[in-house]
Parts: sequence; C-alpha cells; structure tokens
Amino acid sequence: AAPLVISVSTALSAKYGLLIRKRPQFERARNIDAVIFDKTGTLTEGTFGVTDIESFSDMDENTILTHAATVENDSEHPIATGILDEASERNLELHELSDFNSITGVGIEGTIDGRNVKVVSPGYVAQQNIDFDDARFNEWSGQGKTVVFLMIDEELSGAVALADKIKESAKETVAELHKRNIRAIMLTGDNRKVADYVAEQIGIDEVYAEVLPNQKAEKVAEIQERGLVVAMTGDGINDAPALTRADVGIAVGAGTDIAMDSADIVLVDSNPKDILAIFSLSKRTYNKLV
Ligand code: ADP
Ligand code: MG
Repeated sequence: AAPLVISVSTALSAKYGLLIRKRPQFERARNIDAVIFDKTGTLTEGTFGVTDIESFSDMDENTILTHAATVENDSEHPIATGILDEASERNLELHELSDFNSITGVGIEGTIDGRNVKVVSPGYVAQQNIDFDDARFNEWSGQGKTVVFLMIDEELSGAVALADKIKESAKETVAELHKRNIRAIMLTGDNRKVADYVAEQIGIDEVYAEVLPNQKAEKVAEIQERGLVVAMTGDGINDAPALTRADVGIAVGAGTDIAMDSADIVLVDSNPKDILAIFSLSKRTYNKLV
C-alpha cells in the first residue's frame, strides 16, 4: 500500500501545489467536518491599501501618516506594509524612532521625539475608555475596512482605514465546502464588524473575531470539543499554535516560515481552493487502502 500513497502524494505537490509534510494528517483530511480559516492573507489577499485618514487633533493627514509609518517601519504585519506604502507614495520622510515594541494582537509602539506613539486596534482604544468618532469608525468597518488608531502619549490623535481584497477563490471554496457538508468558520484578530462583513461576502457559517493570538489554539480546541474534526488554515506567526492544535494544519504558502513549520500541509500557491483538492485526494488515496 505504501508505494501508492507515496506516489500519489509526490505527484500532488507538482500538480496541485501541495506540500504534504505529515502523512497521518493527510490521511485524516478525508474526514474533515469543518474548516477554520484565518481571515487576513487566507480569505483575503492580505495586502492593505490606505483608503481614509481622519484627524482627531491639530495634526494633518500627512503628519498622522508620518507618525504611523515611523512606528510601523520595522513591523512585518500587512497593516504596516499598507501604511508604509502610502507614506512612500506621498514622499513622506519618517522620523527617528526608538524603543520600538510590538504589542501582540494589538499593534505597535515606539518613541518619537520623547513621546510615546502607538498604532493600535479599535479594541485597545475601547479598553482605555476613550471616546472616539463612532460614526466614522462604524461606516468604515461596516465597509469591511480595517481601522487602526494613532495614539500619542495616550491621547487619540487620528485614525487610518485600510482595505484588503476578498479572494474570489475564497467564495468558491466555501460554496464547494457547503456542497460537501463541511462548515466554514473564520478565526481572526481583526475587529468584529470587519470580520462579519468579510464573512457575509464569502458565505462563512461562523465567525470568531477579536481573538488574541494566544487564544486561537484554544478556540480550535473548543470547536473540536463539539465533536468536529477540523482543518485550520492560516499564514501568520500568530496562527502557528492553532495549526498545530487542529486535526489538519494547513499553511497558506506566502506566509511566514513559522506557520509553515507548524503545518501538516502547505498550499504552495496560496489558493484556498487547493484545500478541496487535499480533501478529495485524501479520500481517493486512503479509501482505496482500507
Ligand atoms: P489577524 O487574525 O488578522 O492575523 P492579528 O492578530 O495579526 O490579526 O492582528 C489583530 C489586530 O491587531 C489587527 O486587526 C490590528 O488592529 C492590530 N494590529 C496588529 N499588528 C498591528 C500593527 N503592526 N499595526 C497596527 N495594528 C496592528
Ligand atoms: Mg494573520
């Protein structure tokens, strides 16, 4: 039996762009009840563009963007890349930064000119009991935009909205999962409104939003406790423990090395549709053997 499995799985990497790292997990893939998707970079392209900038202070748009870009300069988060691209397009010159620190699942901070500057999530701002322009925020996040806030010495100075693109292949994948009676679940660190918007566009059955990176694996375990055999797909460092926890951990290729190392299977082409091929091929390979 073994030669068949080996020849099938070798052929797969070439034909479907799959890298099968662990064979027992590939075998389990034929019995999946639910797929848990990370949002950014898996269901969406993961490339953010700045769409709006709002000031809550005497700073103008470019000043807000310059401060935000300075703090984001050493971050590899897709939000950081979006902000830095916009700053560079506007030819803005960044400030000197010291005491750079990333706050996991929340944002990033540093010191500019002796002042503490943060770029953080709406959830963080809400926790500080700071009032902000709900109307603007609701409008943007209702359109599926990710909003981050600029805080200087704990005062709210401005907001930046960024848009990502939903992958057409994500919609097609979820429709096909439904045909096969497999649930589609989203697990994201992003804001609830954005998550709901994206989920609705794609046809996702269940959404967990504002989940901190260290809670992602726990959420996977909770879903498993319902008696579901689950596959988890993600691309970020944050997703590594959740990928390990899932019955089948699938890394989306363009992501980080850490996510790849924790994965049982890697989607080399970053196309969520290749998940369907994994399930079909696992069935075809192993149903023949037992
Ligand atoms: P995801 O599930 O989308 O990968 P993350 O855990 O990476 O979520 O991030 C969750 C939230 O934390 C983001 O939506 C954003 O609000 C905030 N955040 C994380 N990193 C950064 C950063 N470098 N700059 C700004 N905001 C960030
Ligand atoms: Mg991510």
